[in-house]
Amino acid sequence: MRDYFREMMLIDTHSHIYQPQFNEDRKEMMNRAAQAGVEKIFLPNIDLESMPLMHQLCDDFPEVCYPMMGLHPCDVKSGFEEVLAIMRSKFSDRKYIAVGEIGIDLYWDKTTLDMQIEAFKVQLGWAKELKLPIVIHARESFDEIFSVLDKENDETLRGVFHCFTGNLEQAQKVMAYGNFMMGIGGVLTYEKSGLDKVVQEIPMEYLVLETDSPYLTPKPFRGKRNESSYVKYVCEKLAECKGLSVDEIGRITSSNALKMFAI
Ligand SMILES: [Zn+2]
Repeated sequence: MRDYFREMMLIDTHSHIYQPQFNEDRKEMMNRAAQAGVEKIFLPNIDLESMPLMHQLCDDFPEVCYPMMGLHPCDVKSGFEEVLAIMRSKFSDRKYIAVGEIGIDLYWDKTTLDMQIEAFKVQLGWAKELKLPIVIHARESFDEIFSVLDKENDETLRGVFHCFTGNLEQAQKVMAYGNFMMGIGGVLTYEKSGLDKVVQEIPMEYLVLETDSPYLTPKPFRGKRNESSYVKYVCEKLAECKGLSVDEIGRITSSNALKMFAI
């Protein structure tokens, strides 16, 4: 491991490390993240089952792990209104740093689009009410997400397009909303993604780092389980794309993340 990562603070703004994939070695994995300079890890919720796992990890690692609350678009199905009501009630029990992850996913299931849009709008409303950022999951759904945001965006709404893999035009649209950033993860290290060209056109003030662990593992571990310590590989790749030092990338993306999530 390269020494400079010990000196700096990295933030993994999107990580599902509370999932069972880490049950065997969660402590070691958290140690590796700390060794890699990852001081904070933000945890997006998925569904009702993931909630206790996420809360437990935040209780075990206070000041490192921070929870979000929201219903993942892939888990929006009939009866979702009741699930949302339960999730909404949780905001009075403890502090959440964001409403997430929410959005629209048309890769896995197009038949639930209407419900996904409805759930997205409801949760957008929470963010406005509670003055929290939103963390958006957009998969094959930029047009649908943008058409909701075009109507709902206002000067108070803010958030992150997590695992941004869009083109330049889509990046410009995100920036034009005013208070939105893009989460850059392992896909940046995949040669064919073309994301390396797109990030060159995005000013640093719009970028935060993430892993989306256990998914989307960066090179050199592509195909294996992802973990928060690997955010350093994303940091290195972004430094290369932007022609900046790893240190600069770490400093700017961490300060962006702290600002966005008000920590
Ligand atoms: Zn996620």
